[in-house]
Amino acid sequence: MHELVKKWQNVAPSQNAEKILRERYYLKNREGEYLENSWNELSRRVARVIAAAELLNNPRLQQMTPAERLDHIKSWEEAFYELISSRIFIPNSPTLFNAGMGVDFELLYKPLENMKLEDYEKIVQQRNHLHMLSACFVVPVDDSIDGIFTAVKEYAMITKVGGGIGSNFSALRPNGSFVAGTHGKASGPISFMHVFNSAVSVVEQGYRRRGALMGILNIDHPDIVDFIQAKRGNDGERVLRFFNISVGIPMQREEILKLYEQDGQIELHHPKWVGKKQVRVREIFQLMAQNAWETGDPGMVFLGEMNKYYALYPVRQIISTNPCGEIGLGPYEACNLGSIDVAKLYDGGKFAWDALEKIVRVAVRFLDNVIDVNVFPIDKIEWAVKESRRLGLGIMGFADLLYQMEIPYDSEEARRFARNLMAFISLHAHEASSDLGEEKGNFPLFSQSRYAKEENFVPFSMDVSDYDDEIKQHFKTRAKKHKRNVAVLAIAPTGSISNIADTSSGLEPNFLLAYVRYVNKQSSGEREPLLYVNEVLRKKMPAEDLKRIESELIEKGSLKNLDVDEKWKRIFVVALDISPMDHLLMQEAFQCYVDNNISKTINMPNSASVDDVLDIYVEALKHKIRGLTVYRDGSLRTQVLTTARSA
Ligand code: ADP
Repeated sequence: MHELVKKWQNVAPSQNAEKILRERYYLKNREGEYLENSWNELSRRVARVIAAAELLNNPRLQQMTPAERLDHIKSWEEAFYELISSRIFIPNSPTLFNAGMGVDFELLYKPLENMKLEDYEKIVQQRNHLHMLSACFVVPVDDSIDGIFTAVKEYAMITKVGGGIGSNFSALRPNGSFVAGTHGKASGPISFMHVFNSAVSVVEQGYRRRGALMGILNIDHPDIVDFIQAKRGNDGERVLRFFNISVGIPMQREEILKLYEQDGQIELHHPKWVGKKQVRVREIFQLMAQNAWETGDPGMVFLGEMNKYYALYPVRQIISTNPCGEIGLGPYEACNLGSIDVAKLYDGGKFAWDALEKIVRVAVRFLDNVIDVNVFPIDKIEWAVKESRRLGLGIMGFADLLYQMEIPYDSEEARRFARNLMAFISLHAHEASSDLGEEKGNFPLFSQSRYAKEENFVPFSMDVSDYDDEIKQHFKTRAKKHKRNVAVLAIAPTGSISNIADTSSGLEPNFLLAYVRYVNKQSSGEREPLLYVNEVLRKKMPAEDLKRIESELIEKGSLKNLDVDEKWKRIFVVALDISPMDHLLMQEAFQCYVDNNISKTINMPNSASVDDVLDIYVEALKHKIRGLTVYRDGSLRTQVLTTARSA
């Protein structure tokens, strides 16, 4: 094991992290008593259950003696344990919540040296219907009452076990169109979205999560204008509160850009709609910008761009994303995520590339194993997942890493580093997936995929990095024969797990250098404030300087207007110090080496105008990104983080 992993195993979660873990993550029995009381115990449970998957997915185990089999599983349990307990790699929340559900508690925590082969077999057998480990789902919604209410039921079943769900509602006939069965008029996709929203609002996820949805309507659907305004008047809670909404761009983004630039029109259509209507693309964009300015919704998702790089297109098609946008999926597909805290890999003045390579390889095996011990809420989901075995390995802690390296987030140097970092992870993750293909078998649709069939296929656009030749070589040679997973990478928001890791979230800049975050108290449901001051700042800035500015920093969250050396201001930038364009360019830097997508918010100051928002919507069409989410400070979208002052 790498010494860095050992080092971080000895660093306990902060008080804040421990509080979150205790409130939401540590497993309890039916009587409400804690079965685990530390991150190490939780790590043991998760590592053990995921290692047990080797019994389900590793054909080589058949050739081993029972003693060898046991050793094999135990050694993977230990490798997974090291990564999770060090908090260098953390899987998505549902894996932390639900791994081990249904299993005898003693089996989950007994010392590794006492584990027998039968114990692992029991773990596999005893998993129950709550053993659901994935964060991302897409459910198709058909144009019939039966289809719609089947989907509502599926939403309820997935929400109950903690998954986030997205749907594309474009198949639904528009408002006012004819319904043959009843000689009545259809009420359209938006009215049905309210049904999904209500269903999710009444499904209990216990104390852990409140549910999260993504609703998409394609830009050429006849109801697009109403859809764009569907969350108008939202105060962050009232209207479609569980939904993020996004306009789907099923064609290539260049096509829409051309129409925008030439002031062209788009023809709205639906097979069940007799009407004819053209809308100016500029009008649609103006309306999107106006609404995003007010409420943060809608975003855009470039489905055409996702399919362009999808290894199974056109055999399979991406129709929607999950709630935060980092994964595009086909009907009934699901995906599990995991994130590496790159801030923990900066040690002694340098970045530990050698450690990162090892971590990536173990993490890919871990995430691939998650698929096989997962208990999916619906059979169709299990089939869809297992035919392509999509994974989402990404990063968190990027902003804190840049702070340590003293590189400003909004600089070409930061973007160059981002491309190299992601290209390196991508190269090794894809090599690991090919190794797994050779060891355990390729994903079932591999021979139909573009990996096998298309001469120069690479599942992301690439740009310029130090690893481009190796990446091309990989896809020209090894990936032609072996690939375990249709896609391997994604950058998630890591909203909760970055707090557990005491690091910055995903690829995002820190929102504030000091802030308050609210946690729901399980016992009373009250919201309890937790105060954070950025750790890297605390370490780097001379203590007396920090002391001098501390109260102002807690109030403002940024160094921008404080009386400190320019050097600190340049390095320790926060989200609102960074221009929208620099946000977008960082999204692009990462996306160029990611086969799934990226969760990124383009932050804008409260003073931004509707035209400023419009500029970013149009700019997005010019860059190699796969979606856009804008948040204007103080707009109506629910704000998770607040400055200490407004607490
Ligand atoms: P975490 O840090 O808890 O692992 P992320 O913030 O990285 O989760 O979100 C990853 C994905 O998990 C989201 O895109 C969404 O699909 C799902 N998700 C997040 N929050 C919720 C929630 N409250 N309910 C259901 N799904 C969620």
